[in-house]
This record gives sequence, structure tokens and C-alpha cells, in this order.
Amino acid sequence: MNRESILLESVPTDLFVGGRWRGASDGGTLNVADPATGTTLSTIASATADDARAAMDAAADAFPTWSRTPARQRGEILRRAFDLLTERADDFALLMTLEMGKPLAESRGEVKYGGEFLRWFSEEAARIRGSYGANPEGTGRTIVSQHAVGPCYLITPWNFPLAMATRKIAPALAAGCTVVIKPASLTPLTSLAFAALLEEAGVPAGVVNVLTTASSGEVSEPILADSRLRKLSFTGSTSVGSSLLEKAAGGVLRTSMELGGNAPFVVFDDASLDDAVDGAIAAKFRNIGQACTAANRFIVHSSVVEDFAARVTARVREMKVGRGTEDGVSIGPLIDANAVDKAAALVADAAKRGATLLTGGSRIDGPGTFFEPTVLTEVPADAELMREEIFGPVLAITTFDTEDEAVALANRTEYGLVSYVYTDSLARGQRMIETLETGMMGLNVGVVSNASAPFGGWKMSGLGREGGAEGIHEYLETKYTMTADPFSA
Ligand code: NAP
Repeated sequence: MNRESILLESVPTDLFVGGRWRGASDGGTLNVADPATGTTLSTIASATADDARAAMDAAADAFPTWSRTPARQRGEILRRAFDLLTERADDFALLMTLEMGKPLAESRGEVKYGGEFLRWFSEEAARIRGSYGANPEGTGRTIVSQHAVGPCYLITPWNFPLAMATRKIAPALAAGCTVVIKPASLTPLTSLAFAALLEEAGVPAGVVNVLTTASSGEVSEPILADSRLRKLSFTGSTSVGSSLLEKAAGGVLRTSMELGGNAPFVVFDDASLDDAVDGAIAAKFRNIGQACTAANRFIVHSSVVEDFAARVTARVREMKVGRGTEDGVSIGPLIDANAVDKAAALVADAAKRGATLLTGGSRIDGPGTFFEPTVLTEVPADAELMREEIFGPVLAITTFDTEDEAVALANRTEYGLVSYVYTDSLARGQRMIETLETGMMGLNVGVVSNASAPFGGWKMSGLGREGGAEGIHEYLETKYTMTADPFSA
């Protein structure tokens, strides 16, 4: 057996409920495919609504004990999980490349990034604080305390199979919450392997439950309707997120929503073009363009646009497309045939409306679901890819002349996840911080994600924050207790 087969053999194929690995209640399964070849990697259990009820029972049963487990102990378990993940970084990286398609070097980067949430929240667990103070009238004292929210339901997307799981599980466990996690059906293997790692790290039975399923709506229904559930944390598309928000309203659930983006990447005429080109390549082509933080619209000053376009085109022409396990590959497959169709349709629409194709633009014959890395310039404002999240390796350039125009173009979207700005002017950079309507901004950098920072969006890009000091508060409830003035008794 080769290394890939040995690794795949070691990954669980069952549901993880109440500390036990078991098949689906109706024996149902789903196949997980390699998007680079179309071949089946593994056949795993596909949960039913009954399995969802069992997972919810397990999370609710485990909550009283876990929430009272000393914070230091919870933190140490997360730290052990970080150490184990670091030891097994190569296996997790390969597994993600197999099921999701990203190049191995990027998968290794995700293991590092995803692991940092375990380390960060292992430290934050012991820093859950409250306060004590006299009321202004002097007639009483207020004690403010923090409490674990309760059992949580976590839903993750396929594009960052590990990091989206650790970004939710680590703060939840640090706060004392128990969870049911439902990974995307396209990339469930990483979550199964990660659940086994958490078990080994000492996470008690029922604290983390994993439901893989081909019927996400059906399986989510009983969990969202269960009055013991206190929190829903979702990462995925804005359309699914907004329909889940409606369901969460029934139980007045706490929600965190990490949704879609349409990031502007603004290059001013005073920017270092070398830096802007490096940043553009990272912000656009990381994860084969399939990141919520991917730059979607390149808004470039008209005096530098020709130079910028020529330089990014030269870099894109050098990119090697192929299976992510091959040496030197920087563009793997898109996740599935629908993603290829979408990229092809968006490029065709932009071309029809007058955009100029500088390189790429076509799907690549299978096996696998590949699309050429593409650069378009002179993209008109009414092109669909200016409004829609491209989620593929297509770099679309438009121009501006004045700063006001750049800001108006950048903010012309219902999304508000992240923006990128390249300028050498400090004052202009500060004006952009104040005027761009996004939850995150890269100022002369093309990658913003970091476990110590509060990741999240404005407008239709979401609610709540993951990571940073803020991340754990998404899983905590505040209580205040009023007491009498101890000197008046
Ligand atoms: P998606 O289709 O919305 O799916 C996300 C998750 O929701 C998957 O686990 C999916 O499971 C599940 N799901 C779908 N329909 C559901 C339903 N009716 N009830 C319960 N769960 C349901 O999004 P995606 O295509 O996987 O991910 C891409 C999107 O995620 C992009 O829009 C991207 O911008 C966004 N994203 C945002 C962030 C962020 O932090 N803001 C990070 C990463 C990705 P199945 O697929 O198995 O049905």
C-alpha cells in the first residue's frame, strides 16, 4: 500500500456520538471523492435525523460535567490536541489535499493556522473573567460572571476542512461548551480524523460529536428544534446562513455566522507595485481562489493598471496546475463540476460585457475538475463577477481615478468581510480603515487570517467573531448578580 492508502485506511468512517464510533442508524453511507481524479477516497457513514437526536442527547448529557471541569484542565486538553496535531501535520495536510484538492504546501499552512486556534484557546480558557464593583449610588454591589452557553451546533464548509473546525471547536471547549459538529459532505474526512485526535488528547465522551451526512438539512432540523441547543455557529454561504438564521430564531439561539465575501483589492498609484503583485497573487490564488477572504475585485489606479496587469499575468502564466500532491503545483482542482461551470460562466459573462482576457479563461479536460488560472482586465462594473463571489482562480481588474471613486467601488457590495489596500501613504491608509465597510482589512498585506485576531464580517458577510480575545465570548453568557451594600447590613 502506498502512503495515501495507508493514511486513508487510518481515518475513521463512522459517526462519533457520545464517545463511540458507530455507523448510521439506517446503515446509510456516502462516498468522498478526490476532486483531482474523481475517484472515491472513502465510503463513510451518512447520519440520519435519529443520529442527530442521539448526538444532541450526548452533547446535552456531557455539558454539566464539562462546563464544571476546571478551565486549566480544559485548556490542557486543547494544548495536547495542538501538540498531537503538530506531530501529525504531514498526515493532516495530505488528507486535506486528497479530499479538498489544495496544494500540499497550502494544506501544511492550514494545519499550522488551524492548530493555532487550539493553542490560542488553550491559553484563553484560563482567562475567562468577570468583575465586581459598587453601583454608583453605593447601595449595592454588582458581580458580573461568565458562563458556558450550553450545547452548540457547529456547521463547517469544505474549503478549509481543518481550520474551520478548530476555529469553532477550540473556543467552544475552552468556554466549557459541548458540541455537535457537521462538516461538509464534500470534505468530511479531516473532521473525522480530527475527532479521533481529540479523543486521544483526552476530550471526554459526548463533549465533541461528529455527524457526517449526505442530508445536511434533514439532519440539522431536529438539532435546531431542540430546546437544549443554545448556540449555532455556521461557516458557509450567505444563502444557507440566512436560512439557518430563520430556523435559529425559533429557539432564540445565539448565532455566529461566517458567510460569503466579495473582497475589494485596491491598489493606489503610490503603492509599491512589487508588494501589490505579491499580495494580489496570495489574496487571489490561495486555496485555488476558494476562500471567503479571496480578493474578488481588483480596483487599480488607472496610471498603474497596465503595469500591474502585465506583472500579475506573467506570474499567473508560470503557475503549474495539477493534483495538489505533485511537486510545484500551485493550482489544484476546483471542488466539483459546479464550481468549474460557475467560473466558466462568470468569465464568459465578463468577456461578453467587454472585459479583456489576458490569460487562461477555460476549463481543463478531466479527469478532475480543473480551471485555468485567469486574468481579466477592463472588467465593466455590470459584470456578474463584480457582484458575485467568484470562488475560483479568476483575477478581475477594474480601474479608478480618484480616492473617492475607489472607496465607492470597494463598498459597492452587500458583503463586508475583508478588504485589501495597497498604498505608501499613512494618512490614506488610515482613511481607508475608516471608510471601507469590512470587518477585516489587509493594509499592504495579502493574507489577514491569524488566530489571535477577531475574524468576521460586516453587512451580509456575517455576525460574530472567531479567534482573538473576542472568539471565546461567542460561547459565553454574561450574568450579573446584584448584592446589597455589605456595610449597610
Ligand atoms: P454552503 O453550501 O453554505 O455549505 C456550508 C455548510 O452548510 C456545509 O457543511 C453544508 O453541508 C451545510 N449545509 C448546506 N445546506 C444546509 C442546510 N439546509 N442545513 C444545514 N446545513 C447545510 O457553503 P460551502 O459551499 O460549503 O462553502 C463556501 C461558502 O462558505 C462561501 O460562500 C464562502 O465565502 C463561505 N466561507 C465563509 C468563511 C468565513 O469565515 N466568512 C470561511 C469559509 C467559507 P453539505 O455541503 O454537506 O450540504
